[in-house]
Amino acid sequence: MFQDIKNPNTYCFVCSHVLNQERQISFIHHDNDGDWQFLCDKEHEIKDIKVLSISEITNLDKTLELCPKLDYGQSAEKSKKGIWNIFSASQAC
Ligand SMILES: [Zn+2]
Repeated sequence: MFQDIKNPNTYCFVCSHVLNQERQISFIHHDNDGDWQFLCDKEHEIKDIKVLSISEITNLDKTLELCPKLDYGQSAEKSKKGIWNIFSASQAC
């Protein structure tokens, strides 16, 4: 998916659990404004959310390369088997 993002410095939102490599990314959201979110499966508060560049997040989790392209407004959730399932969501969690 990320080969479609032309600027590797595109920023994105990531939770502190993923950033600290405590947990894997299990939820991706590409919102209607073009912003990206990468979260684990825990509940999050606004203070848990950090800003990174796309190139940093792909270095953190190599399984992101297996995720298909997400259009605006689409989300992807990783199953226990590591398969990314895409769905359209009207809002982020
Ligand atoms: Zn998290």
